[in-house]
Amino acid sequence: MTTQEPDLWFDPSKCLIAGQWVTPTGGGTLPLENPSTGAVIGEIARGQADDVDAAVAAQAARDGAWGRMPAVERGRILARLGRMVTERLEDLARIEACDVGKPLKQARADAIALARYMEFYGGASDKLHGETIPFQEGYTVYTLREPHGVTGHIVPWNYPMQIIGRSVGAALAAGNACVLKPAEDACLSALAFADMARDAGLPDGVLNVVPGLGSEAGAALSGHPGIQHVSFTGSVATGAAVQAAAARNVVPVTLELGGKSPQIVFDDADVEAALPYLVGAGVQNCGQTCSASSRILVQRSRYDEVMARMSERYAALTVGPATDDPDVGPLISARQKEIVTGFIDKGADLEVVARPSLPDLPDGGHYVAPTLFGDVPPDHVLARDEVFGPVQVVIPFDDEADAVRIANGTDYGLVASIWTRDGARQMRLARALRCGQVFINNYGAAGGVELPFGGVGKSGHGREKGFEALYAFTTLKTVAALHG
Ligand code: NAD
Repeated sequence: MTTQEPDLWFDPSKCLIAGQWVTPTGGGTLPLENPSTGAVIGEIARGQADDVDAAVAAQAARDGAWGRMPAVERGRILARLGRMVTERLEDLARIEACDVGKPLKQARADAIALARYMEFYGGASDKLHGETIPFQEGYTVYTLREPHGVTGHIVPWNYPMQIIGRSVGAALAAGNACVLKPAEDACLSALAFADMARDAGLPDGVLNVVPGLGSEAGAALSGHPGIQHVSFTGSVATGAAVQAAAARNVVPVTLELGGKSPQIVFDDADVEAALPYLVGAGVQNCGQTCSASSRILVQRSRYDEVMARMSERYAALTVGPATDDPDVGPLISARQKEIVTGFIDKGADLEVVARPSLPDLPDGGHYVAPTLFGDVPPDHVLARDEVFGPVQVVIPFDDEADAVRIANGTDYGLVASIWTRDGARQMRLARALRCGQVFINNYGAAGGVELPFGGVGKSGHGREKGFEALYAFTTLKTVAALHG
């Protein structure tokens, strides 16, 4: 068993503002914990409203210079940053494993995704353009896509690198300057990334990072009058608070708030092909994934078979410290463990189909055993609420209409997947499912950075990833010239 700590080449007790590492106002710090052991391994900056003010002011002083830089130059800097991320992939993965408790192979996948976002958005920055519009005789009308100015990015602890890649990457490519507030539970990769961005040639002050508490630095950022767009990923309650704060300044907000995403297995499904996704999408990152598949809907004729096969997979899952690279690491914190075990207790009336026993693990680590509940009523709290832990429920259904009704029966609507060989059914369900992404005979499409992503209902609004994110990070100006 190994629980090594990462070598940091920067001081996480500082904020990065205007290209300088600065001690936060008041000099406050927060403990840096390794979730695999519970040990405090350092301290991080506790940024305050004054630090957010300084970050916004640094960017205002630049007066939009980054946005006016030739788009191809912006793109080259982002592409260079992507290559640097790839070169330091192992360092970043080890940082993330110790900070988030993410098993190394999953942390490496996040670093690869971060590099890919820089490659994609670096390549896209000089392909983002307006249109000409056929209008009346004597007019020439065209649109300009312009950056908002300064954008705020509030990021959670579960996938820091991926979420920074998709939100900061798109904002920078579109010519915005950014203030990034990473989560108090996991801010190291954000600081590492911003430091590397300086080395890649990003001008000072274009990307500032203010770590700290949500109630302090986060609240200050979401309601800051100098911020022209807020991008938030996290819980529903905090997302609503962020939107309310931004509304006072009448600025647009992108919210990505999680889900209760189903995989629907029909009687004609290739269960063998589905199995890795049925379990993997539920336990990856210890279930702390906004698009985790926490509900498995199975047509009754295949129910026993699917339960038996999923149970086999559960029995083989390894649980351990992140740097041992198990299938399932610890949860992020003692608080998250309390939330998850509280949910598992709410399933006392349900059948536990699989729950591997835990091996010897470090006492202070935040481990829970992955748990699979069977024959769960669709209105049970475990079938409706987001657990954010390695807990899945299996729900039997009778026919297609029943499956759609159950799948659409929560407040969330992030992603869904359909396992069936019937092409007409695939098309019908792709339309009928109420969510932002539908996968047919797969789950997650390997995280494709090109694919617009976001939810409906309590899963949030606005789209990240792909070109859609670039549109969200620009404002459209229409120019109508009357020249006769
Ligand atoms: P959270 O929503 O409170 O925190 C997410 C981010 O928002 C963090 O950076 C945090 O510092 C910041 N924040 C907190 N309060 C804020 C405020 N008032 N104003 C501005 N920013 C603020 O999430 P959490 O407390 O870390 O986790 C609680 C639950 O949220 C989890 O159990 C899970 O259900 C959900 N969650 C969802 C996602 C997701 O990807 N959708 C990610 C993390 C957590």
